Amino acid sequence: MSELHPILTGTLASLAASLGTAVGAALIYTIRELKPRTEDALLSGAAGIMLAASFYSLLQPGLEYGVQSYGDQAIAVTVVIAGMLLGGGVLWTIHRYTPHEHFHGGREGPDSTKLARLWLFVIAITLHNFPEGMAVGVGAASGDFATGAALTAGIGLQNVPEGLAVAAALMAAGYGRNQSAGIAFLTGLVEPVGGLLGSSAAWFASALLPGILGFAGGAMLYIISDEIIPETHRKGHEDVATGSLMMGVALMLVFGTLLEPA
Ligand SMILES: [Zn+2]
Repeated sequence: MSELHPILTGTLASLAASLGTAVGAALIYTIRELKPRTEDALLSGAAGIMLAASFYSLLQPGLEYGVQSYGDQAIAVTVVIAGMLLGGGVLWTIHRYTPHEHFHGGREGPDSTKLARLWLFVIAITLHNFPEGMAVGVGAASGDFATGAALTAGIGLQNVPEGLAVAAALMAAGYGRNQSAGIAFLTGLVEPVGGLLGSSAAWFASALLPGILGFAGGAMLYIISDEIIPETHRKGHEDVATGSLMMGVALMLVFGTLLEPA
C-alpha cells in the first residue's frame, strides 16, 4: 500500500467507497418499495456514520497532523477550525445560490410536479457525494492507514442506504428497475471525482492538510445538520431516526477501533 502515490490511494479509496452506492442500487432488485419510515431510518443511519466519520476520521486526525507539522497546539486547532468553518461556509454558499432541493422534502408551490421533486432529490444525493468523496480522498491520502481504511469503510457503507433510497424513489415514480438501479449507480460516480480533488489538494499543499481535513469535516457536518437530520425528522419518525443515527455512530466507532493497530 505504502508505495502507492497518495493521490492514487485517495482516488482508489473514494472509488471503493462509491461501490457502496452500487450495492445500494443493486438492492432495488430485492425489494418492491421502500416505506418512508424505513427510508428515514436508513438515511439517519447514514448520517450517524457520516457524523462519527467527521470527528473520528477528519477533525481529530487534522488536529494530530496539525500538532505534528506546526509543533503548536493553538495553531493546529485554529487551522482545523478555520478549515471546518470554511467547509461549512462553502457548502452554505452553494446551497444558498444554486437551485436545490432537500433530500426528500417537497418544494412548496403549485407549479411543482412530483417528477421535478424526485429529480431534485436525486441531484441532492449526487451533490453530497462530492464532499464525501473529497473526505475519503483526503483521509486516505493523509498516509495514516487506519484512518483511511475506517473512513473508506464507513463512507462506503453509508452509501448503501443512499443508493437504495435513490433507486427506490425512481422506481416509485414509475421508472423501470434497470433504469432506476442504473441512475442510482451513476450518482455514486461523483465520489471518486471528489476523491481525486481532495487527495490532490492534500498532496500539493501538505502543509495545509490539517486545514483540508477540517474543510472536509465541516462540509460533512453541514450536510448532516442542514439536510439529513431535518429531512428524516419531517414525517414524524424522529424516534427511529435518532436511534438509527446512534447506531451509525456506534458502527463507525467499531470500525475505527478495530482498524486501529493495537
Ligand atoms: Zn452520505
